[in-house]
Amino acid sequence: MTAQLFAELQAELDERARQGLRRRRRLLQSPQGANIKADGAEVLSFCSNDYLGLANHPALIAAMQKAIATAGVGSGASHLVTGHHQMHHALEQTLAGFVGLPAALCFSSGYMANLGVVTAMMRRGDAIFADKLNHASLNDAAVLARADLQRYQHNDLVQLEGQLSASKAPRKLVLADAVFSMDGDMAPVPELLALCERYDAWLMLDDAHGFGVLGEQGQGALSHFGVKSPRIIYMATLGKAAGVSGAFVAAEQVVIDYLLQQARTYIYTTATPPALAATTLAAIDVMRFDSARRTHLHTLIAYLKEHLHLDRWQLMPSDTAIQPVLVGGNEDAVRLSEHLLTKGILVPAIRPPTVPKDTARLRISLSAAHSIADVQRLVDVLQQAEKEWG
Ligand SMILES: *Cc1c(COP(=O)(O)O)cnc(C)c1O
Repeated sequence: MTAQLFAELQAELDERARQGLRRRRRLLQSPQGANIKADGAEVLSFCSNDYLGLANHPALIAAMQKAIATAGVGSGASHLVTGHHQMHHALEQTLAGFVGLPAALCFSSGYMANLGVVTAMMRRGDAIFADKLNHASLNDAAVLARADLQRYQHNDLVQLEGQLSASKAPRKLVLADAVFSMDGDMAPVPELLALCERYDAWLMLDDAHGFGVLGEQGQGALSHFGVKSPRIIYMATLGKAAGVSGAFVAAEQVVIDYLLQQARTYIYTTATPPALAATTLAAIDVMRFDSARRTHLHTLIAYLKEHLHLDRWQLMPSDTAIQPVLVGGNEDAVRLSEHLLTKGILVPAIRPPTVPKDTARLRISLSAAHSIADVQRLVDVLQQAEKEWG
C-alpha cells in the first residue's frame, strides 16, 4: 500500500542527489570552537556562528550550572501560563537596555521570532517589502502572514522606494537582514529608515549576525549606524555571537505589549529553560565588558581581507565575521570544500537554493576563538588550492 508513497519521496531525494544538492549532517564530537572534532576527525573549523567564542566559555558554563541548581532544567509551561521565570524577565530588561529600546520579548529561536512578529503585525491586504537576500525565516513569515509580499533587489533603495510609493496598503513593513547571512554585507539601515519615515512604514531588522559583533559593546546594527526610531522593530538571535540559544525582539513598549498578545510563536509554545536565560545574561556581560574578544575578531577580519589574494575565486566585500569566497558552480564549491577538508580545514560550501544560482560559495566564518595563525593557515591552503586547481 505504502510503496507508491515511499517511491515518490525516494525519487525526489534521488533527484536532489543527482543535482549535487543533497545535504548531510556532520557529527560533532567536541564543543564548538576553533578546533573541533567532527565525523571522527580533528579539524580547524570556519563554520560556526559562535563569533565571539562564547559557546564553550567557562563563565557561561558556570552560569548555566548555577541556574540549573536553583531553577531546575525545564520551564514547565508557556510564558503566559507559568513558564515566565524571573530569569527570562531579567534577560528581557537587560536586552532592551543594551540595544537602547524601551522593551524586549524573548522567543525560543530567531525563526520563531520572525514568524511571530510578522504574522502578528501584518495581515491580508497589508504590504511587506523585503530584500531578496533576506533569511529564509523572513520569507516564510511573510507568506504565513498572507500579506502582499514585494521583494526588491539586494539593497536596491530605488526599487524599494518605487514599491513603497506605489503601495496603497493600509500597513506597510520593510523587512531586511541588517547583516546578510550568506554575504556578510550590511543593509543601508539609515537610508531604509529614511524611506520608512517618508512612506510611513514599519522597519523590521534581523540582526542575527550583527548582534555581539557590531557596535562599541556589541549592541549590534542600531548602535553601529547610530540610528534610533520608534518605528524600528529589532530582532536578534542569541545562538550566534551570544553563544547560547534563542532570540529577542526589541521595540517600543506598545509593540512589545501587542506581540505578547498576538505573536502565536510566543504564545503557543513552551518557554525555554530559565537556565538558558540566566546563561544568556552571563553572555551579555562578557559581550559588553570583555571587548578584547570583539577587537580580536575584527583584527582577524582585517587580516583575512588583507592577506587572502585570489584570482579564480573572489572574497566577497564584507566587514563582518561572514567572509564568503565566491566560487560559482555547485560542484566546484563542493570540490573546494572537500579539498580543504583533506587539509584539515572545515569550511562549508553553500549552494542554491540557499544562495542564488551560479553563486555557490565557501562561507568562511571567523570567530574570536581563532588565532592569526589559524587564519594564515586558511589563506595558505586556499591560495595553494587555486594554484593547483585543474
Ligand atoms: C540564524 C538566523 C535566523 C534564525 O535564528 P535561529 O535562532 O537560528 O532560529 C534568523 N535570521 C537570520 C538572518 C539568521 O542568520
